[in-house]
Amino acid sequence: KDLFESPDYFNVDALLTEEQLMVRAAVRAYVKKEITPIIEDYAQRAEFPQHIVKQLGEIGCFGPTIPIEYGGGGLDYISYGLMMQELERGDSGVRSTASVQGSLVMFPIYAYGSEEQKQKYLPKLASGEWLGCFGLTEPNYGSDPGGMLTNFKDAGDYVILNGSKMWISNAPYAQVTVVWAKDESGEVHGLIVERGMEGFSTPTIHNKWSLRASATGELVFDNVKVPKENILPGIKGLKGPLSCLTKARYGIAWGVIGAAMDCYDTALRYAKERQQFGKPIGAFQLQQKKLAEMITEITKAQLLNWRLGTLMNEGKATPQQVSMAKRNSCEVATNICREARQILGGMGITGEYPVMRHMMNLESVITYEGTHDIHLLITGQDITGFNAFK
Ligand code: FAD
Repeated sequence: KDLFESPDYFNVDALLTEEQLMVRAAVRAYVKKEITPIIEDYAQRAEFPQHIVKQLGEIGCFGPTIPIEYGGGGLDYISYGLMMQELERGDSGVRSTASVQGSLVMFPIYAYGSEEQKQKYLPKLASGEWLGCFGLTEPNYGSDPGGMLTNFKDAGDYVILNGSKMWISNAPYAQVTVVWAKDESGEVHGLIVERGMEGFSTPTIHNKWSLRASATGELVFDNVKVPKENILPGIKGLKGPLSCLTKARYGIAWGVIGAAMDCYDTALRYAKERQQFGKPIGAFQLQQKKLAEMITEITKAQLLNWRLGTLMNEGKATPQQVSMAKRNSCEVATNICREARQILGGMGITGEYPVMRHMMNLESVITYEGTHDIHLLITGQDITGFNAFK
């Protein structure tokens, strides 16, 4: 019996190409076989299932929009979105691993790297032989990354890198780090730092109640000698990291709807089977209201994401549109997971069902890659012309 019915209330599937449907089916099948059976256990133990890195590479989830010549998938943005949706139906941490690798590590190397950097790093990142991470946030600079203190000084053939980054997904297991740091004139650059460079360490952040199956760490740079050939030559300024975030946020807009679908599907099934007062709880108006609102919000988000994907494919999507979609999807998904948890009653707090894990994961997703507030301010600035950040 198929344990997952993809909600498609407005026949959005009719808008998808054969290729996009095939990509979705492949990732869905992978998640069902390899992620769903193991992920609750890893999350309960707060352990990263390291073996999935190779698997994600094999099924093409790392850098799906990067050209095939560099090991990427050469796919369009809707295929990429559908992949993220299916991965996050499994777990937001698994999707985070793929988002970071593809959009935050491979994309900047592809877009701003030298030919040597592309040849050296992209195929190994695409295959999952190497895992990457992206260091922007610092202990004292989160929403305001322009204040970053991490910096490097010229020392001939190499630069000396100092500083620290905080909340970095994949950091404890990553071989390759794209780190954003200021040069002596205060200009932001991207540097590729490899595990093993002297003075570089990646302490793990423990005790998270969210994204427990994803490894999060710090990046500490203590006079690290980074060869100059590891600096990304094609970009300077904050637009470097921000352009990567636009790609990743686009994937999140799709991804969290996968988590929402899983919660909706679980809650619907439960509401039809669970009996109280002599009838299924799904026959009571209050539970129907919850379920009806869930499918309405999922449908609206599916259509918004599809349209945004079309604009991305045409190269016409603005970062502000991506912000709106990321924010909308996170709000919708967070609310759906919370409501689904209530429909499941006491069972909703257990690991027998995926709902509480999704609900807790989304507390990170609504905060990282720009907080809910920050994305609202981006829309506010876009429509009024006034900057309310400062
Ligand atoms: P702050 O910026 O301190 O914000 C605190 C609160 O103040 C928020 O509610 C915020 O909305 C609000 N606020 C801030 N500024 C304003 C303003 N101008 N107006 C109104 N309200 C405001 N970062 C990376 O670089 N790489 C990663 O791989 C990565 N992975 C992460 C994984 C996890 C599990 C988590 C939790 C975070 C991760 N992050 C990563 C960091 C994440 O992007 C930051 O947590 C996020 O940007 C918010 O920064 P902050 O936590 O410092 O909060």
